Amino acid sequence: MKIQKLIFLLTASLILTSCSSYNEADVNKEEFLAMDTYISLSAYGENSEVALANARREIKSAEALLSVTDPNSEISRINSSGGEDVVISDDTAQIINFALHLNELTEGDFDITLYPITKEWGFTTGEYKIPDKEKIAELLEVTGCENVIYGDNVIALPEGGAIDLGALGKGFAADKAVTVLKEKGITSALLNLGGNIAAIGGNPNGNPWSIGIQNPFGEGNAALLKITDKAVVTSGNYQRYFEQNGKRYCHIIDPKTGFPTDNGLMSVTVVGDSGLACDGLSTALFVMGEEKAIEFWRQQGGFDVIIITEDKRISVTEGIYENFTAEGGFTVEKVEKLQ
Ligand code: AMP
Ligand code: MG
Repeated sequence: MKIQKLIFLLTASLILTSCSSYNEADVNKEEFLAMDTYISLSAYGENSEVALANARREIKSAEALLSVTDPNSEISRINSSGGEDVVISDDTAQIINFALHLNELTEGDFDITLYPITKEWGFTTGEYKIPDKEKIAELLEVTGCENVIYGDNVIALPEGGAIDLGALGKGFAADKAVTVLKEKGITSALLNLGGNIAAIGGNPNGNPWSIGIQNPFGEGNAALLKITDKAVVTSGNYQRYFEQNGKRYCHIIDPKTGFPTDNGLMSVTVVGDSGLACDGLSTALFVMGEEKAIEFWRQQGGFDVIIITEDKRISVTEGIYENFTAEGGFTVEKVEKLQ
């Protein structure tokens, strides 16, 4: 089975719409492959067909800008610059600004400069291997956002350095798609970019959307979450990984070690207003681990989190707790702000 198709089958199960008394004939859909995943956009009401075509175009142009494998993308231009200054577009600048800010806020746990390391592990090609410790140590010399020189839409990387906006790109594209849909007057839409969800309004019945949070241990959902007008983004160790000698190596790298994150978490879902922020935060909080992630949420706020651990516990922050229903087999804990 082609990987994209497989991803589609996995992520298609993420979306469940609430009782559908609205007329399915009024639903318009766009389904296509982009950004290395299967994308499904649904919108309702007047103008939705043309609005979805615009949304699709936005996602395709985000892909053309951000792809690390397309030699013509802006990111490839930065990565092949050999340490020279590169002038970048406002869109790329917006993402890089946010990424560098998140790097600071997370004390380096979120890091867009890890591309040489993810490449060495084979996560970019699927030709997986466990690199030598010496090789990782050597590559760690060129990673780290402190080595990026950035300002006023100009970026310079160190010789041998390369960036990858894979942890943010789908969230950015979802925000772009939401903007053009709203510009066309759409008030009810659900976008699924490979499990990276964005909802406009509620469903056409006026009820919240019901979103499945994937069970990281197998098929189906670990929980359902009701949302209106929100982004819901999950990072998990089941999304891309390989196994060797019974150990799982996932695609999210701990920048401090250069090794795949291995901290007892299976997935982190972030719920908030911005797809870009939720996408970045879900990756960042996954790297942090449970304790630091909860502490970070308590300090920063402005979003909600669902954390699923290897020992089948689900921690849910207070802002979404009432809208959350877990399936059996998990112990659920409500996480509150400290007084
Ligand atoms: P996501 O699926 O949004 O969690 O993003 C994971 C992708 O981000 C990986 O496939 C890498 O391309 C990249 N990545 C891996 N580790 C990190 C990290 N610590 N910080 C930022 N990006 C990362
Ligand atoms: Mg992410």
